[in-house]
Amino acid sequence: MAYEIPERLKKLQSYQPVTEVYQVRLDANESFLDLPENIRKDVLEAIRQVEFHRYPDPEARELCQCFGEFFHIPSTLITAGNGSDELISLIIQSFLIPGESMVTVSPDFSMYEFYAQAAGVKVQVLEKQDMQLCAEDLIQKVRECSAGLLIFSNPCNPTALKLEREDVLKVVREIDALVVVDEAYMDFSEGSVLNEVENYTNLIVLKTCSKAFGMAAIRLGFAAANRDITGVLKAVKSPYNVNSLTQAAGCAVLKHQDYLRECTEKIREATAELYTGLKKIEEKKERIRKIYPTSTNFIYIEIEGAKSLFEALKKEGISVRFMNGYLRICAGNHKENKAVLQAVEKIL
Ligand SMILES: *Cc1c(COP(=O)(O)O)cnc(C)c1O
Repeated sequence: MAYEIPERLKKLQSYQPVTEVYQVRLDANESFLDLPENIRKDVLEAIRQVEFHRYPDPEARELCQCFGEFFHIPSTLITAGNGSDELISLIIQSFLIPGESMVTVSPDFSMYEFYAQAAGVKVQVLEKQDMQLCAEDLIQKVRECSAGLLIFSNPCNPTALKLEREDVLKVVREIDALVVVDEAYMDFSEGSVLNEVENYTNLIVLKTCSKAFGMAAIRLGFAAANRDITGVLKAVKSPYNVNSLTQAAGCAVLKHQDYLRECTEKIREATAELYTGLKKIEEKKERIRKIYPTSTNFIYIEIEGAKSLFEALKKEGISVRFMNGYLRICAGNHKENKAVLQAVEKIL
């Protein structure tokens, strides 16, 4: 009768995404493109063939094969996860022990710190200068903290900026720690280090199907790493972490390579449209302090009274992400982009 929940767990709060209904949802960096009818049919057909009474393939072999074919990487170096979120949690928990240090940067994806806290891992935060990551600073920070792991998103959520490929590899080469590069948005840009995982003993690259590929609903992400690290990931993960429906649906969609590339291109165009529109508003409205260039499907804006603009947009039925003095606005379709641009201009 005397159990005390550990302090580090008491402090945790469950993730609270936007759940109210908005006409225009630009807060979660999702794709605005839902699956077309012909691919839905393939997905449903694949699901029809699922043996519902059997456990899934623990290695998700066919799925990893499809992923590997798309990105030209051996499927033996890939681990599938229940979203890349699961993989982030798994990596932190298994490669670090409670009390060990992990380096993150700020601002960056909030879940890194969240999972570290849950695992009792110490988080050392490198504050970015002018929002831009710098290889030298990363290297120095990891050494200073004797950290066992460095994790960051590239391109970065929320800044939309990226660290060049050569700089990422420099960091990987120069530190004695595991480097996790979360490339959730790299489909929209160049500079992936995915095809380098075989060459390093301390590199994991994370990918997700939730953004460019428009499959946030099925919860599917991947970790790519060399053979040894991949062996560890497969050993520590829960055996049936990716269910058979997701494996079937993932395969069916990943086989449509041209379609996925088309989607990525359409999202890129939509992001450019949103960016151009915002830059035009910036010329007229002094409250906009800075619009960051983007390597992703969203735009990061520093804005005076960001909170009040955020609230006013909500009243117009438009949901964006508010982050302390900044807004992060995800690209929508033409109509949605127009709606958010008009609303921002009107409110400012
Ligand atoms: C959205 C996002 C993810 C989440 O991926 P899931 O596969 O949906 O869990 C991971 N990392 C970053 C940086 C993201 O923005």
